[in-house]
Amino acid sequence: MDYYQIEELLSPEQLLVRDAIREFVKSEIVPVIDQYAQEHKEIPGLMKKLGAIGALGPFIPEEYGGVGLDYMSYGLIMQELEFGDSAIRSAASVQSSLVMFPIYKFGSEEQKHRFLPRLASGDLIGAFGLTEPNHGSDPASMETKLVKDGDGYRLSGSKMWITNAPICDIAVVWARDEDKKIRGVIVERGFEGFSTPETLNKWSLRASKTGELVFDQVFIPQENVLPEVSSMKGPLSCLNSARYGISWGAIGAAVDCYETALKYAKERKQFGKPIASFQLQQKKLAEMVTEISKAQLLSWRLGQLKNEDRATPAQISMAKRNNVNMALQVAREARQILGAMGIVGDYPIMRHMMNLESVITYEGTHDVHLLITGNDITGINAF
Ligand SMILES: Cc1cc2nc3c(=O)[nH]c(=O)nc-3n(C[C@H](O)[C@H](O)[C@H](O)COP(=O)(O)OP(=O)(O)OC[C@H]3O[C@@H](n4cnc5c(N)ncnc54)[C@H](O)[C@@H]3O)c2cc1C
Repeated sequence: MDYYQIEELLSPEQLLVRDAIREFVKSEIVPVIDQYAQEHKEIPGLMKKLGAIGALGPFIPEEYGGVGLDYMSYGLIMQELEFGDSAIRSAASVQSSLVMFPIYKFGSEEQKHRFLPRLASGDLIGAFGLTEPNHGSDPASMETKLVKDGDGYRLSGSKMWITNAPICDIAVVWARDEDKKIRGVIVERGFEGFSTPETLNKWSLRASKTGELVFDQVFIPQENVLPEVSSMKGPLSCLNSARYGISWGAIGAAVDCYETALKYAKERKQFGKPIASFQLQQKKLAEMVTEISKAQLLSWRLGQLKNEDRATPAQISMAKRNNVNMALQVAREARQILGAMGIVGDYPIMRHMMNLESVITYEGTHDVHLLITGNDITGINAF
């Protein structure tokens, strides 16, 4: 769906990347995703498959195992993956923006060489621990503690709602040290006292594992502490990168819903006519195409600014908030166009709709992003 010929604004390399991921999603994700989502299972070997097509940390330089692509390409990758399912995009987002990005940005050379190439290939699965049972929108109040112990630290506390927690090999975890500074540490599977119970019975992101990260006095050696960060700037810069990708990803889910609804509306007949011939259905479709086009323009411009390192956190908030909300509205309208058919797994719409209920909450809720815009334009913090 390219109503405003945005494709003309993309470079041949960006188009090549987009088409390669599109091909992957059509052949590897679309045919199987409904089954895995229904069964509440992740696609086996997904991370290695994403690694093989360069979708994990695509903006990380080649010397650390990445592909060295620009941010517009990263956005396009997220868009195509979320056309498949938000769970697939979430897996790539977390690994790229929330695990590889902080290690690349704040890690030592030794940490970069030790972890990034295996994260890029999908041989290691990463998780990102910021949210806690008592602190979601307000992560700066986190209680997870890091206390000095010999030539390392003891980590205690817990993180909740963590994507890929039950299957992660490593987790980048944010905790408060004895000087009240926020530090990032790399916790490895097998560290004594570290467990990752799964969160069951989700109605959303069912093809993605979610769980807790529990730290019972886990010893963290000094070499697993990210040396270059000691404030909320650490986790917030990760979220900026991820939220940027989500603003693109949501477009992918919306396009799948819109295209499904358009095709269905042209084929389905009631009162002797295709339902696409009724004004009420055309209104829904016309509004969808309008809102998707606006979101595409917003993300494309944001991609330009991100490439020039000029995208502000508030601009990213606006795009994440607008585009995810847009996708959720498109999914709800598309679901109605399909009538009863809209609720079954033969069509992707209900799955996208349920997924987007998480996407509108994680990485900063819909409300919180509005408050960020409000703060930015008035200079007054209303949190
Ligand atoms: C499927 C899934 C995967 C996730 N993956 C991860 C992950 O990998 N890593 C991670 O760290 N976290 C993850 N999260 C957690 C996510 O980031 C949090 O759920 C989110 O930040 C919101 O926190 P909360 O759920 O505690 O809601 P709360 O912060 O309790 O908010 C509840 C409601 O209150 C509103 N609210 C809060 N503060 C204000 C205010 N000042 N003014 C007005 N309204 C307000 C919110 O907008 C919301 O509507 C995930 C969540 C889900 C659902």
